[in-house]
Amino acid sequence: MSLNKAVLEIRNRQRIKPSSNEYPAAVWRSTDHFNGETVDTLTIIFKTSGCWWGKAGGCTMCGFVYDSAKIPPQPEELEKQLENAMQKGERLERFMVKIFTSGSFLDEKEIPVETRKNILGKLAADERVFKVIVESRPEFVTDEILKSCSDALGDTSFEVAIGLETSSDNIRKNSINKGFTFADFTRAAEVAKNNNVAMKAYLLLKPLFLSEKEAMEDIVNTIDDVAGYAQTISINLCNVQNGTYVEHMWQRGQYRPPWLWSIVEILQRAKQKHPELVITSDPVGAGSKRGPHNCKKCSRDVSDAVHLFSRTQDLNVLDGLDCGCKELWKKVLDLDGLTYGSPIRD
Ligand code: SF4
Ligand SMILES: [Zn+2]
Repeated sequence: MSLNKAVLEIRNRQRIKPSSNEYPAAVWRSTDHFNGETVDTLTIIFKTSGCWWGKAGGCTMCGFVYDSAKIPPQPEELEKQLENAMQKGERLERFMVKIFTSGSFLDEKEIPVETRKNILGKLAADERVFKVIVESRPEFVTDEILKSCSDALGDTSFEVAIGLETSSDNIRKNSINKGFTFADFTRAAEVAKNNNVAMKAYLLLKPLFLSEKEAMEDIVNTIDDVAGYAQTISINLCNVQNGTYVEHMWQRGQYRPPWLWSIVEILQRAKQKHPELVITSDPVGAGSKRGPHNCKKCSRDVSDAVHLFSRTQDLNVLDGLDCGCKELWKKVLDLDGLTYGSPIRD
């Protein structure tokens, strides 16, 4: 059975819960790094008809597909989602807006062209919003689409984020089932550069079927490969989402989310080598069985340090982190590759 078919079989067993199309799937405030400062951020996940790739099977770790709308939202409902989301930013004085959908903001089947222009136009008109980041698959990053977004945004900074996951075509295809190549990403990055649009790459630490060490080296190599194409790199630590193929493997004891020590080492090595890059990571679900974790004693402290590094880009905040479980992690790095994918210890 192909990997895509296996993912699709799991997808077909899930149900999307009905909910109002006038509210986004999620919205929250946080802080981020921007030009040497810590700034406020409003993240909005629009509820759309969903990712075309995810609906046909899609990525092995992705549960976002279930955040999509049961009935495709009308354009006015999508604009109402923005209005409702912005209430969460009511008290913010100056902030950045990150826009996700459960797919691609630049896909006009999810967000119609006029609606996209209206949403970006409204954000541009809000003087408190100094930057907008939108996430998309690379196939929707074209001259025409970026020009139209930049026109709508005027002076507001604009960045496109792509979930590249890894620069290895082999891993992206056979562990993640992402459905595009590194060349597709670099093409999109060139288009962004020609349009003076900043580029951010999301990477995935520890896709299926990789040992801890292979996963760590893959991200370090990927950062080297991506350095010429993206100005910001955000490393997602794989967590076990409901209704995914990753969950299927995890339930069988054939997958363990990454250790937090691995992201610490990646940040140390990559930032030293590429001081010009902004490298961030938000270890979602850190410390839980389904999320990236060390032992119970140190997971919270290590995850806090990763957050602090992401906001400040200061490697000193990662110095001095230690715990008895670090020795076990080192053993895992040595031995994990010999167990044919079965985690040595959870
Ligand atoms: S990770 Fe992105 S591209 Fe993959 S299925 Fe999910 S939304 Fe679609
Ligand atoms: Zn520990």
